[in-house]
Amino acid sequence: MAASPPVESVKTHLPPLDEVAKVLSDGLSKNFASVSTDVVDCPDLTQKPFMLVSEGLGGNPRLADVGGPGFLTPMPQLDKKFTFAQIAKLVDLPGAFMIGAGAGPCEHVGSNSELMNNVLLDNNGQVLKNNAHIAKVDPKDESCILEKLTCPEFNLMGNFLVTEGKCCKVLEVKAGKRTGEENFVSCMRKTLQSYYGDKMVALGGVFLIEKGKAKLHIMPDFSKTPMTTQEQVKNWLNFYDMSATLVCVGELVSHDPGMDLRVEHFHCFSDHGEGGHYHWDITPDDVQYRGYFVLAEQVYRVDQPPEVTELGR
Ligand SMILES: [Zn+2]
Repeated sequence: MAASPPVESVKTHLPPLDEVAKVLSDGLSKNFASVSTDVVDCPDLTQKPFMLVSEGLGGNPRLADVGGPGFLTPMPQLDKKFTFAQIAKLVDLPGAFMIGAGAGPCEHVGSNSELMNNVLLDNNGQVLKNNAHIAKVDPKDESCILEKLTCPEFNLMGNFLVTEGKCCKVLEVKAGKRTGEENFVSCMRKTLQSYYGDKMVALGGVFLIEKGKAKLHIMPDFSKTPMTTQEQVKNWLNFYDMSATLVCVGELVSHDPGMDLRVEHFHCFSDHGEGGHYHWDITPDDVQYRGYFVLAEQVYRVDQPPEVTELGR
């Protein structure tokens, strides 16, 4: 076992939820024709269409920002492997419920892949419930293969909300008919950034793309040649138009206090064989988003890559 990776943690700014709901409503209204935000009891997220392994998002919510694109380029550092149990321990929440975006465990999957994390651990780090998925590119025809994750590990990077999975008050955010240029996640993040400035507000959770289609990418198998430009990364990635209903898990932070944080990262899965990294919807007139989020109290930066890169973000 490799030495335990370095960890740094920082407390976030925690405004009242109803204030955040109002701020998000104002910001999203500049980008969507129909918006409603509210503070509600979390619906049972184990039910369809959510399919999460815990009912709620509450109980010591924190974000884990693990590794990053700096381990993917110019060449992938395949020794960067992590277990969910290890991350739960490093963020001081051993019996954790974790959801979010990452890169799958390539040795077990057989290739590079997108990870949609969705696991519940016990206090010893054993998996109690697992509905995590990976999405990979079919080498035969470049179609998407969505599979259940069978091994509680990941490679290179992860951006997870980590909580006790308890029922709690959450932010409910609905937005439909996009009128602006921003995607749902960036619009929320930039809204929080412009209101809260250098006070870091962090949130994580789940949103549905209930109607319409979205552009998602899946990382194909690792590049055999070094990638040093954004263009090379873009050409390497496989992009897909995928259809509702998509379940998107991940996190965002309004401000990076110099920890090389991934400021937004959501991955989607479904029960119709589609999944990957969320970029934006491609049906602005028809799109309908509905999300449930909690504010994270702390952000843990685990194994920050030594080089900051804008590539692959
Ligand atoms: Zn991603």
